[in-house]
Amino acid sequence: MTHGKISYVNGKYVPHEKAMVHIEDRGYQFSDGVYEMLAVKKGKLLDSDLHLKRLKRSLKSLYIDWPTSPDSIRVIIKELIRRNKVTNAYVYLQVTRGVAPRNHPFPKDAKPSLTVMFSELQPPPQKDYESGVKVITGPDLRWGRRDIKSISLLANVLAKQEAVKAGVKEMWLIDGNSGNITEGSSTNAYIINKAGEIVTHPANECILGGVTRDKVLRVAKKAGIKVKEKPFKLKDALAAKEAFLTSTTSGVLPVVQVDKKKIGNGKPGEITKKLMKAYSDFMNKR
Ligand code: PMP
Repeated sequence: MTHGKISYVNGKYVPHEKAMVHIEDRGYQFSDGVYEMLAVKKGKLLDSDLHLKRLKRSLKSLYIDWPTSPDSIRVIIKELIRRNKVTNAYVYLQVTRGVAPRNHPFPKDAKPSLTVMFSELQPPPQKDYESGVKVITGPDLRWGRRDIKSISLLANVLAKQEAVKAGVKEMWLIDGNSGNITEGSSTNAYIINKAGEIVTHPANECILGGVTRDKVLRVAKKAGIKVKEKPFKLKDALAAKEAFLTSTTSGVLPVVQVDKKKIGNGKPGEITKKLMKAYSDFMNKR
């Protein structure tokens, strides 16, 4: 589906075309807010606990109050699923510090804004899972708190546009200080080294700790695949046996080319395929 007919804005369910916030919403003027993207499959909201836990962290890190309780947010999303008769879709929710005259310090009495809608994002086509996708690399131009799911996504947008221009799926970002590949512009990044271990950047301030990353690493360990949460560099990626990326919208997606160099034999690798199957079984069981 495209966006839902009905969206939610600060206490009201409104037709999507009329879903508006004020021009002095601090999200609009300062990117002063955070967001979450959740999946709905077969009409069921998935992993709301993990997403609301991350939302809590993001809000706390920016000293933004809950706009309403986590339980009420769940009720709002479920009501939107019902009103829009949704079966499979993504929910986008955003919280900002609220509306106040434009001035940098936190406003004293602004109320946090909450908007919720169905996203127009589509899962990747089946052929991407079967043949794998290509990525390029580029500089990670983001700020020092990438662990906060902030709506300030300009560096991510520029990186993704470079990927679009290059005709590939994603840009993997290289940290200017460490030279480490942190993650992709909207996905987490992984390689499988010669020893058959998954290597991915630790979930610290340098990356957004993906909800999918969490689940995939747990599933991998259960399936007997070793996991090393340690940074890797471009040269490690180019020498890797296999590679993949993850996100709520992509699940586990094989990466078969980095900067024009084939990874392994240029096809999705065996360990990645095993992990895709294990992850898909895990998601379908619930
Ligand atoms: N990293 C970044 C920068 C992202 O924007 C996202 C998705 N929003 C992810 C990783 C993947 O996170 P998740 O698995 O929670 O969708």
